[in-house]
Amino acid sequence: MRGADGERRGSGGWEKLLSSERELRSGEEWKSELYSVAQRQFSEAADALGLDRGLRTRLLEPRRSLTVNLPVRLDSGEIQLFTGYRVQHSLSVGPTKGGVRFAPGVSLGECAALALWMSEKCALLGLPFGGAKGGVRCDPYRLSQSEKERVTRRYTAEILPMIGADQDIPAPDLGTGPTEMSWMMDTYAQQIGHSVPAVVTGKPIHLGGIAGRECSTGLGVVLACEMGWRARLGRGGLDGVRVIVQGMGKVGMVAINELHKRGAIIVGVGDVSASGYSERGFDPDDLSKWITDNEFLRGYPRMSELDSRDSLLTEPTEILIPAALERQLTAENAPRVQAEMIVEAANGPTTPEADQIFADRGIEVIPDVFANAGGVVVSYFEWVQGLQRLKWSERQVVENLGEYMRTAWEQLSSTDAEYSLGLRVAAQIAALRVMAAAARDRGIYP
Ligand code: NAD
Repeated sequence: MRGADGERRGSGGWEKLLSSERELRSGEEWKSELYSVAQRQFSEAADALGLDRGLRTRLLEPRRSLTVNLPVRLDSGEIQLFTGYRVQHSLSVGPTKGGVRFAPGVSLGECAALALWMSEKCALLGLPFGGAKGGVRCDPYRLSQSEKERVTRRYTAEILPMIGADQDIPAPDLGTGPTEMSWMMDTYAQQIGHSVPAVVTGKPIHLGGIAGRECSTGLGVVLACEMGWRARLGRGGLDGVRVIVQGMGKVGMVAINELHKRGAIIVGVGDVSASGYSERGFDPDDLSKWITDNEFLRGYPRMSELDSRDSLLTEPTEILIPAALERQLTAENAPRVQAEMIVEAANGPTTPEADQIFADRGIEVIPDVFANAGGVVVSYFEWVQGLQRLKWSERQVVENLGEYMRTAWEQLSSTDAEYSLGLRVAAQIAALRVMAAAARDRGIYP
């Protein structure tokens, strides 16, 4: 159907078609608020680095994406259609890696933003992966266990052509955990005829999971907290330091425990149901027991419940750890934040406007791309363990995690000293350097 060049130019119709294709092509289908935040952050780092236009386009847009509609039978017998996604951002250095989230806000754009940040995280931490992300738009709190299993298995079957131990390796994220990873691994095994433990990470230990994976993201967040508090704020340890943690899931609860072990006082906590403050500090064991028994924080007796979930972020504290959702710290609440340091356990919790306000107010932000990287580092160990059929001890895992985090912190600090644009831009510059070198050296096929 392609006409000769002269014919295209002469007819006018072809030109019109080509230019409308160009308008559509620039990543329209990935547009979302979160993706535009990720793009703005990327552009700031790319400008500082003087990245050429060709590489920018190559590194910014995801390489592959898949949208699937999953018919799932609910317990009532009714059939409901769920929409799921998988986005692979960069294929330059190895298989792609990234979590699967079950949440009501999941969209193609959200997955694209999270996949880009995963690429940057892997590059900054020196892992042989590109970034990916996926998920199903649903409210996991409203699905029964068996409905969740059917959603997970059907989603896995639909994205099967994209995943594999050498292709793309999913992991837990918001709303998913070891159980969903077991179902994903089993569905994959049923389809291809044999078990491949390295197809997912974050599995239970008895299915090839690794000791320490469940604690890895939260522990990494606390290591980031310690590094930031010492090196950026010039303070000592965390003993006696007040901390607020928003989000009490896989990441938040571990961070609360690890901070408490280091003598920090957890003065504020919150989840989707409620937020509370306690000047004397929360007892993590008591909190964990309450959440295990009641699922949500609402009704917890040993706290003053706050009027709104949002007000938790502006209560008095030295360190604030958003460990729930994206875009929690905004132009609206940033001027009222009282913390001296924010450690981003969640992905994308700070909008660019809030970032500027924190910079103007001298509040240090330890960015997500570094702060929550502990999970993917230990996922990498789990993947290697799966490929080698070897078993790592928890001590090995924790020691190696510390080593990876310290090396990345040095990289981050030296890049920041070179550019003086703040840690977020430094993290992205350090990552983009690696990503750009890989893309440049691979060249373009054909
Ligand atoms: P999770 O599902 O285990 O827990 C999420 C927590 O956030 C729950 O306590 C939930 O009640 C709370 N929450 C949900 N909506 C909320 C709201 N509107 N206000 C306040 N709290 C709310 O998820 P997780 O795995 O702990 O992930 C939390 C964040 O950390 C996400 O941004 C995720 O992308 C990021 N992250 C997770 C990992 C990992 O290994 N799980 C790794 C890196 C980054």
